[in-house]
Order: sequence, then structure tokens, then C-alpha cells
Amino acid sequence: MAIAPIKIALKLDNDHDIVKAKPSQTRPILLALALGLVGALLNSYPIELAYSIFLVVGNLAFIIAAAYLRPALTLLCALLCVAPLLIIWGHPFGFLTFGCEALFVSYLRGRGWYLPTADFLYWLLIGMPLTAVLIKFTTTSATEYLIFSLFKQSINAIFYTALAVILIFVFGEKLSGWIKSQQPPLVKNLKQYLQYILWVMSAFFVVGVCLFLSRSLTNIQEQQFKGKLDISSQYVGRIIEKYVDEHKKAIAQVAYKLSAIEPSNYDDALLEVHKIYPGFLTMLIAKQDGSLATSSPSSLMANLPKSSFSVADRSYFSQAFFQQSLYVSSVFLGRGFGADPIIAISAPIYANKNDSKNDKPIGIVEGSLNLNLFEQVNHYAANDREIDLVLTDENDNVIYAEASLALATLSKFNFSSDQVNAKHQLLTIDTYGANKQRYLYRQSELNNGWKIFVLIEHSQILALIEQQYLTIFISLFVIFVLVILLANRFASTLNRPLAFALKELAHGGGASGYRAIPYVAPTEFLTLYDELQQSKEYLLKQKSILEETVEKRTEELNQANTALKKLANKDSLTGLYNRRYLKNKFSELQAILARNNADMLVAMLDLDHFKKLNDKYGHLMGDHCLKYVAEVMKNKFLRRSDIVARFGGEEFIIVAQHDEQGIMLEKLEELRQEIAQHHFEHDSGDFIAVTISIGVMMANAAYSEKITDWITLADEQLYQAKDNGRDQLSINQLAHIAQK
Ligand code: GH3
Ligand code: MG
Ligand code: MG
Repeated sequence: MAIAPIKIALKLDNDHDIVKAKPSQTRPILLALALGLVGALLNSYPIELAYSIFLVVGNLAFIIAAAYLRPALTLLCALLCVAPLLIIWGHPFGFLTFGCEALFVSYLRGRGWYLPTADFLYWLLIGMPLTAVLIKFTTTSATEYLIFSLFKQSINAIFYTALAVILIFVFGEKLSGWIKSQQPPLVKNLKQYLQYILWVMSAFFVVGVCLFLSRSLTNIQEQQFKGKLDISSQYVGRIIEKYVDEHKKAIAQVAYKLSAIEPSNYDDALLEVHKIYPGFLTMLIAKQDGSLATSSPSSLMANLPKSSFSVADRSYFSQAFFQQSLYVSSVFLGRGFGADPIIAISAPIYANKNDSKNDKPIGIVEGSLNLNLFEQVNHYAANDREIDLVLTDENDNVIYAEASLALATLSKFNFSSDQVNAKHQLLTIDTYGANKQRYLYRQSELNNGWKIFVLIEHSQILALIEQQYLTIFISLFVIFVLVILLANRFASTLNRPLAFALKELAHGGGASGYRAIPYVAPTEFLTLYDELQQSKEYLLKQKSILEETVEKRTEELNQANTALKKLANKDSLTGLYNRRYLKNKFSELQAILARNNADMLVAMLDLDHFKKLNDKYGHLMGDHCLKYVAEVMKNKFLRRSDIVARFGGEEFIIVAQHDEQGIMLEKLEELRQEIAQHHFEHDSGDFIAVTISIGVMMANAAYSEKITDWITLADEQLYQAKDNGRDQLSINQLAHIAQK
């Protein structure tokens, strides 16, 4: 649904670009470069969360870029941002995963998607699988590490995307003032907007707080592990030293003791000592020639070829016998006595201890110290499952290693330490074929040149962090669901009173007034509602005032129109109907009378010798006479159907129904007499009289519908009256009159 307006917006954008291509080209490039540099700077100082796990924040720069720029420029920005990671990470994968991220997010943003949604989709569909493939095929890290990396990457992405969106939210307007966005505007309704902003805010704070807590937690944990390692390496070192020393002392003592007794008692003495020191796998006493005098357990000798067996070639014999000193051999695998790693401790035996030191020894006593017994000896390490032990001799050959490490005894202990994170003392044991595990380690050297390595599996530490990240993930999911519910609720809280107010304003009001909003609404809403009500009332009042005014004006206009019409129908001097009106009225009356088979009378009146009157007394006087005559005529012919009109100059026409009684003729005669009897007083003191001649024509109304026909005949009669001496009526009654 939302695609259509966005398409339009895109189109508009394009059009716009075409119009002013020049200025809008440089700023986007500048923005891409500036953001890229800021991002690169931030990425140069990644925040370490745990052992070699870094939070990359600089990528927020290309997410911001995606909000304003098309994919190509966003990619440029991203490549700049990622450059420092090439050095820090030591591999160029960032260019691939983050480059794709920039392209994808910018493209989807251009199609009207929200930045967080686009970014989340990217990591889900492309980013995580791509990272998995890259890790799988390029490093030999354990699988747990892979899952952890994927977790970490996506949380990292959520964090910098949320941060980017918040920055756009805060500074977006300023940036928009500087650069015209190449991306279409986002059309959001209230609900979507709330969901969007709540989700971004909570994602940012949840991830931010969780990472901060996780970081301090890991720091504490790291310190604990380090402390543990330090203590363990010292403690175990001391135990081992003590173990060897004790047995050295034991051999020295037994040699001293044997020197004081008869060789026939050697058996018992040796068995007794062996009982006290079970750490010796075997003990033996050899004579001068290297042949065995006795051994413990005594069964050992039973298994050996009695006659030919000699230890004369062994260094523990020659060193003790010829050098006459306490001898401790290098570690070797027991020959003939089993395949355990052992050290031989030997000391010379003298015939009589009271003799001088220069005396030659008569044999040696030797104990094969079983180094596998460390497992039993070292209770501390054995009980602590987190800690693994490796003991090497002075030649770095493994004397003892925990079984789980699968290191062959007396093989070279090969490991490579993590140079990038040297401060954490991480090492990887170089075993061929097996999973390469990383360990946090401490190493200490014993006074005999042996080395003890105390190890904690790196994945054990990661497992804890992984758990924290999983918590963040679950929290984010829960918050996401809550945010949707909350935003819906929030939006409807705002929408419901608004919809109610709009409906009420549209249809409510009048006598019953407006209903109050029945929902809880922000005070701004209530104020707005009040103001809108008042505005509407005011508008309605204004409307009715306007309507009244218009009505009044229309009435006045109608009156003026009627007056104008009347004026147009009447003669201005006399107030009688004019010639035009006479014509119309005549037709109406003629039609009615004709229909009723009635008679009609047309009289033509003319003032006698009027020219003379004008000449003598002036036109004003003439006008006065005309007005008077007209007035008398009006008063005489009062019927609605009577037509009294000024025909022109001093000539008048009267049209009326003629009746059998001849009332009209009588009235005409009265008229003539009344006018003749009237005298006008002139300023000169003269009394002026005026007379009229009347030509009458009477016929059935059907005679003619043309007024000229009637007037012609009436005019003939007027001439007749003038000829006959004026001041009289002359009547023509057509023959077919009164056919009733
Ligand atoms: P007759 O008896 O034959 O009708 O003689 P008359 O003088 O009345 O006739 P005529 O037709 O010769 O003169 C008409 C005169 O009426 C001429 C003109 O001066 C006068 N008259 C026409 N209209 C008016 C008017 O409106 N006011 C005045 N004062 N005089 C008018
Ligand atoms: Mg005349
Ligand atoms: Mg006249």
C-alpha cells in the first residue's frame, strides 16, 4: 500500500535531480566521505567486550548514510568505515559483509523500508549465513566459536543501527537542512511511528546496558580466571616440586639407611620404604656390576631374566655409582617396567656409612617415580574441572597432560600463543587434525627446569558471554513484542479521542452542544477540542449573520428591480403607462375579451391647441397641464383591466372593456367635462382652461388583435372630433359589435 506514494516521491526526486543536477551531486559525495571518515575513526578504537571480542560502533556511519544516500554512495561510505578493521581483524571479510550490508540497507530504504527492519533482514538473510561460510572455510576455530560470532555480529548490528537511527532522530533535521536526501520520505502513520521509535529506543538501551553489564561482568570473570590461573600454577608447581623433592629425599635417606645395614636386609628395608612412598612405581637395588640385588615389588624381578639382567648401562646407575651423587634422570618412558612416564632417582649405597667418603659405593638404590601419579597427587587440579594441566620437562616434552587434551606423553608440547591479544595470554595447542582449541593460560617454571601450564578453555569463558548474549537476544525479542503491543495501545489511546472529537465536531453541536470526550486524552487534545468547538460556533454565527445580510440585500435588490421595471413601463412625466407597456397590456386584454366574446373600447385623447398653450405660457405650464390631465384620467379609470397610457406628446390612449350600458362612454364624457371645467392659475394672473378631443373606436374584441388597427380607427374619430370643433367625443362603433 505504501509503495505507491513512495514511487511518486522517487519520481519527484529524480525530476528534481535532473533540474538541478550540479549542486546536489557534490554534497552527497561529501556526506559519504565525511561519514566514512567518522566511521573509520570510531572503528579504529573498537570497544573490547571480552577476550578478543570487540564491539564495532563505527558502522553506524554507513547506516546514517543509507538514510540519505543511494546504494553506491552508501557503499563508498561503508568501505571507508571498514578499512581499519582490515588491520585489527587481520582479514578483509568486513569489506564483504559490511559492504553488502550497506548496499542492502540503502536499497531497501530507497523502497520505503525502515532502517532497523532492513538491517535486521540483512543479517538474517545474508549477513549471518555469509559470516558463517566465511568463518567455516577460513579458520579452524571450533563450532561454538562460530555460533558465538554470529550472535555477536547481529547484536553488534542491532546496536549500531539503533544508535544510528537515534542520531538521525536527534540531528536529522539539521542534516536535512544541509543536504537534500536522495532517499524518499518515509510515510508513517501514528502506530507505525510509535512502534518504530519505541523499538529503536528500547533496542538501543537494552543492548547498550546489556553490553555494558556483560563487559564489566566479563572483566570480573577475567580477573577471577586470571587469579585462579596464577594461584593454580604456583600451587601446582609447588606440589610437583614438593613431590619430586620428597622422593629425592626419600632415595637419599634410603641410600643412607641401606649403607648402614647388611645387604641381606635390603629386601625388607626396600619394601618398607616403598610402602611409605607409593609414588615410586618400582624401586630397586643394584650391585656394583649392575645386577639386581632386590626390587620392590619383588614380583618385578621374577619377570626378569635373572642371570643376564643388568642395569649397568642405565644412566641412573652410572651417574649414582660413578659420580656418587643423588641423581635425577630426565623423564622417560619406563622400559621393561611398563610404559609410564617416569623419572629415575638414584643414590649410591656404601658398605659402611662410618667409612670415609672416599670409599667406593657397593651399589645403588633407585626409585622410578611415576609421574602419572600427579593425577592422584594433584587434588587441586583434579577437582577443578575448569582447569587443565600440562607439565613439561626441561626439553618441553609433555610429562603429564590431562587426558582431555589428548597429548601424547613425552611428545613435544607445541602451541602457538595469540600474538594479537598477547595481554590475555591465549594459546592454541598445535595438534594435528584435532579441533584447535584456544586456552587462556599461565605458565610457571619449576626449579628443575620443568614447566607447568595451567589452562582454561577459551570456549568456557565464551560460553558465559554467549549466555549473556542469548539473554540480550531473548530480551530484545520480548521487548519487540511488548513494543508492538504498547505502540498499538498507545496509538489507539491517541487516536480514539481524536476520532471522537472529529466526529463530534462534524455532526454535533447546536442546541444539545458538544459531548465531552469519553476517553482519557492528553490535555492538549482537550484544549484543541475546546478551541475547535468555539471556532465552529463562531463560524456558524458568522454564517447566519451573512445569510441574513444576503437575504436583506436580496430583498432590497428585488424591490429595486421592481421599481426599475415599473419605471421602464411608465412615462416619467405623467406616471402613466408608456407606449411599450400599452402594447403588451392591450394584447393581454384583447385576448381575454376576445375569448369572452366581449366588446372593447379604444379611445384616443388629444389636448386641443396645446401648441398655442405652450407657446403662450411656456413648456412648464404645458407639462403641468399634461400631469393634471393624466391624474384625472387615472382617477377615472380605476379598474384593474383599464389601460390608461401616454401615447406620445399630448396624446393619450384608453383601452377598456365596453359594456352594453356604455359606462365607459359616460366616463369619457365626464372626463372631457371635468378637464374643460378646470382652470389653471398662471403667474401672470390668467386662468387657463384646457380642453380635450376624444376619438373612440368600439368593436367586438375579436375585431383585431393588432393595436394599430384599433388606433387607426380611433385616430380617425379624433380627427373627426377636431374637425367638428374640438372639446368633444367622436365615436365609431363597428357594425359587428354586440353580436350576443
Ligand atoms: P390641435 O388642437 O389641432 O391638436 O392643435 P395643437 O396645437 O394641440 O396640435 P399640434 O400637434 O400642432 O401641437 C402639439 C403640441 O403639443 C406641440 C408641442 O409643443 C406640444 N407638446 C407635445 N408634447 C409636449 C410636452 O410634453 N410638454 C409640453 N409642454 N408640450 C408638449
Ligand atoms: Mg396632437
Ligand atoms: Mg393637440
